[in-house]
Amino acid sequence: MPLYDLAIIGGGIAGLGIFESAGRAGLRVVLLEGRGVPGRETTAVTSGLLHGGLRYLPYDVATSALMCREIARLRGARPDLLTREAFLWPVYRGERLGLGLIGALQDEYDAFAGLRGARRHARLSSDEAVAVFPGLRREGLLGAEVFDEWRVDVPGLVASLVDAGRAAGGELLTGWRVVALSARDGRIAAATAEDGRGGRLEIEARVFVNAAGPGAEKVAELAGASSVRLRLRKGVHLVVAGEPPPHGLIFTGPGGRRIGVYPRPTETWVGPTDQAHDGPPDELAVSEGEREGLRLALAAVLPGLAARPCRAVAGLRPIPRRSGAACLLSREHHVFDHSAEGLSNFVSVAGGKLTTYRPLGEDVVAAVLRKLGRTPPPRPLVGGPRGPVGALCAFAARGRAVGMAASTLLLAGYAVRRVLAGRGRAGWAAFEAGTR
Ligand SMILES: Cc1cc2nc3c(=O)[nH]c(=O)nc-3n(C[C@H](O)[C@H](O)[C@H](O)COP(=O)(O)OP(=O)(O)OC[C@H]3O[C@@H](n4cnc5c(N)ncnc54)[C@H](O)[C@@H]3O)c2cc1C
Repeated sequence: MPLYDLAIIGGGIAGLGIFESAGRAGLRVVLLEGRGVPGRETTAVTSGLLHGGLRYLPYDVATSALMCREIARLRGARPDLLTREAFLWPVYRGERLGLGLIGALQDEYDAFAGLRGARRHARLSSDEAVAVFPGLRREGLLGAEVFDEWRVDVPGLVASLVDAGRAAGGELLTGWRVVALSARDGRIAAATAEDGRGGRLEIEARVFVNAAGPGAEKVAELAGASSVRLRLRKGVHLVVAGEPPPHGLIFTGPGGRRIGVYPRPTETWVGPTDQAHDGPPDELAVSEGEREGLRLALAAVLPGLAARPCRAVAGLRPIPRRSGAACLLSREHHVFDHSAEGLSNFVSVAGGKLTTYRPLGEDVVAAVLRKLGRTPPPRPLVGGPRGPVGALCAFAARGRAVGMAASTLLLAGYAVRRVLAGRGRAGWAAFEAGTR
């Protein structure tokens, strides 16, 4: 086996993003993936959206801005992998989040519409919402907001990253699970991998990167590093068989949790849940309660869809552990440099989104290049939103708390503007005519 510049452990979207970036940087790279096929763990059970982080706007606008920039980039590079999807957000009598506040949030999201290639949002009456989304429960419906997101062909994206990495000379070894990392003189000397059939392999590299997703804590421990601490959050989707609905849907489930309905070519995904997972990452099962809870929530808005046969799938969000409420956890990726733990050529990465695989890959490769004594290339400058939301992004760069305070103020401003200037664009025709 040759001496590689870089060995990557884990071939989910994070490892593949690094594989592609490393190839672009001209590194001699090998990727070890424990499964027979890359992208078959968390990456395979996402909602399949390249989304702009609407949910994170009030508390983590920096991540939303990064996600919107990535949508702009992938729309330019691989438009064939993306399908624009209109989403309705229906509001029922008695719900805490009313149409006014959702409209104000959408006004803020519209600041990114140009970057996201999205039409500006519009308000639908309850009659119109039911007309464009047949099967939506009419009783108690006050109306709906409609806005755009992008569905991504995840297997296609995975394949494109594999191809790009290989075309640059990278090697992908699937079906090889790393079981040991041997350290010598403050460095990792080799990774030992097994194929589960008695085969063993030793890989030597100048730098090792741990991109094992929910398994990153375990892989770091193989080298005796203890700084990678994850807060695993379980996400369950129902997968409903048969013809999908014509659009996506976001609705408020029990306890105020937002649930999505994501049409795919031959089925519909509904979810995800968001609960703490305290066990080992490989002990992941969907309980009857979780499955039935999602089905009942769906039945409250789309009874016809909820009555169809369905199965359930689950994944774990590998979020770096921080204190604070789970609903406010940042989805930024975090790069751990293990030099401080006496391992000068070892880096781990955790967190991030499907949408942000590329900046994650670039950040990790920049850390690797520095370890190899090379200067990372400058990041290309990508435009962002202007006006008040542009100013908000600048504030957010000064810290989470400052960003959150500024975002709350800005949202309040949009809400007041709605009260003073009326409720904005109305109707499906206005939405369809919206600028892209
Ligand atoms: C339910 C859910 C829905 C989501 N929806 C979205 C969405 O719509 N849009 C979005 O942008 N983001 C979404 N995300 C977030 C995002 O998709 C994930 O954070 C991301 O896919 C995680 O990718 P990963 O590469 O870190 O992990 P994984 O995909 O789990 O990859 C880790 C890989 O490492 C391998 N591995 C582990 N240990 C070893 C070892 N010892 N040796 C070799 N290989 C090993 C595993 O086999 C696996 O393939 C969602 C997350 C969840 C859980």
